[in-house]
Amino acid sequence: MKTSLFNVSVFPLKPPYILNLTKINKSKYFSWLQCSKKLYLDLNLSERKNIRPNNRQILLDLSYQFFNKKYKNQFDKLSHEDQVDKYISNNSPFYSLGAKFVNEQLTLNYDAILFENNILNIFLVKSAIYPKNYYIRELSLQKYLLSNLLNVEIKTHLILVNKEYEFSNDEIDLSKYLNFIDCTEKVNELSSDEIALNLNKIKNEFNSDKSPETPIGTHCKNPYQCNYFEYCRSDLPDYHIEQIPNQTKDLKENLVNLEITDIKKLPDLEGISPLQKRIIESVKNSKEFISKELKDILNSLTYPMYFLDFETIISPYKIFPDTKPFEPIPCMWSLHIEKQLGVKIQGMYENKLFYDRFYKFTGEDPRRDFIEKLIESVGDSGTILIYSDFEIRIFKKIAIMFPEYKEEINLIINRCVDLLKITRNNYYHPKFKGSFSLKSVSKILTKENRYDLDFVNSGDDASRVLIDLITNNIDTNQRKQIENDLLKYAEKDTLNLVDLYKHLKSVSQFM
Ligand code: SF4
Repeated sequence: MKTSLFNVSVFPLKPPYILNLTKINKSKYFSWLQCSKKLYLDLNLSERKNIRPNNRQILLDLSYQFFNKKYKNQFDKLSHEDQVDKYISNNSPFYSLGAKFVNEQLTLNYDAILFENNILNIFLVKSAIYPKNYYIRELSLQKYLLSNLLNVEIKTHLILVNKEYEFSNDEIDLSKYLNFIDCTEKVNELSSDEIALNLNKIKNEFNSDKSPETPIGTHCKNPYQCNYFEYCRSDLPDYHIEQIPNQTKDLKENLVNLEITDIKKLPDLEGISPLQKRIIESVKNSKEFISKELKDILNSLTYPMYFLDFETIISPYKIFPDTKPFEPIPCMWSLHIEKQLGVKIQGMYENKLFYDRFYKFTGEDPRRDFIEKLIESVGDSGTILIYSDFEIRIFKKIAIMFPEYKEEINLIINRCVDLLKITRNNYYHPKFKGSFSLKSVSKILTKENRYDLDFVNSGDDASRVLIDLITNNIDTNQRKQIENDLLKYAEKDTLNLVDLYKHLKSVSQFM
């Protein structure tokens, strides 16, 4: 060994914190990759946990299975890191899973290590299809640390999921399901000075008593929306310039130079898009924007009117045969139906609503029943309002799965109208705060439809809970409540769609 890994000068981290490089979901290292303030908050506001599905652990287990199957009878499997140096010195091949290098201040985990032909290969497992820059940064740090410890050539690899793999009733073929990507060249492009500097930054965050003053930015949503998203915005103006969507580099620079963070205080800006202009003006005038065209667009929709929303699951591992990793699997739909134009009461069109839905939590493949029941429920005439083109994309996938329904599905697609597109192009309310998500839009609608359930309050929650219900990975005492929450959530989504339509219809009459 060259030296003790843990004498590396950049690591006098404050105990009891442990830097665990591989536990990405709660990793302090990962926090730092998104933002140094997030790292600080993760360390100091421990009650705020990032709860995400445990896909990585499943992938890690499958990767371990792969290594054990492939190398068990060929190479020694090392379970103690102190054997590593001896094996490398003797040029004896080995592999090690979940190797942990420890000193009193720091623990480093490596998903898999394989020493073969005098080369040490580091493998980092991610529940993803495509390599991302921050995986390369994570690998570069792993390599940097080991190269300070061991005198050996090191290659770095990612283990991802092969999106083309087809699940069947047979056992998974791991050699085809796992996607091994050699990242050595990319990792080597990063300079070790930069890595050492980054490590020093991490050290400073660990030792600091004060939260860093990191400004909010695009990193707050990349790669995931940060847990502290609202927290970091609590002292900002209600209408922060961040709410101006699709900012180009020039616009960002312009806004930084102006040193104004409140949209209300912005001067007239040049070179902005019609949507950006509309949002800024709407906020500055505290007035909703309603286009002249909105009335005609809504009047062109035909009754009976359907309001449709799908819930799907997306999983890297097998839930049903005849699916691929990360392929959206349609499992539930919610449908409100208004058979004719309502009567105007206090400026709003009121009418009797009918409700229909489909779900199957039994663990059987729901896809055929999903489409058969939907075809029956939407009949053959009337507009079907959806919010985004997601449902159309799913319909197209279902048409490939069940070609016998292709014709009927195409007729349904032709009746679909995207209310998100209509809203984005023709309406804005300052309370949207730059977002057209149904959740943001619902803020101007009736209070009864707000998302305030215990278990399901977002599409992500719905997808995660659906997987848990279908795979029966759920506490039996909570199952009924979770099922009810999920059904209520789906119903709220389409009810919000109805209310948005009614709101647009009533405000457009004044134009
Ligand atoms: S919300 Fe943004 S600025 Fe705040 S901790 Fe998260 S990533 Fe950092």
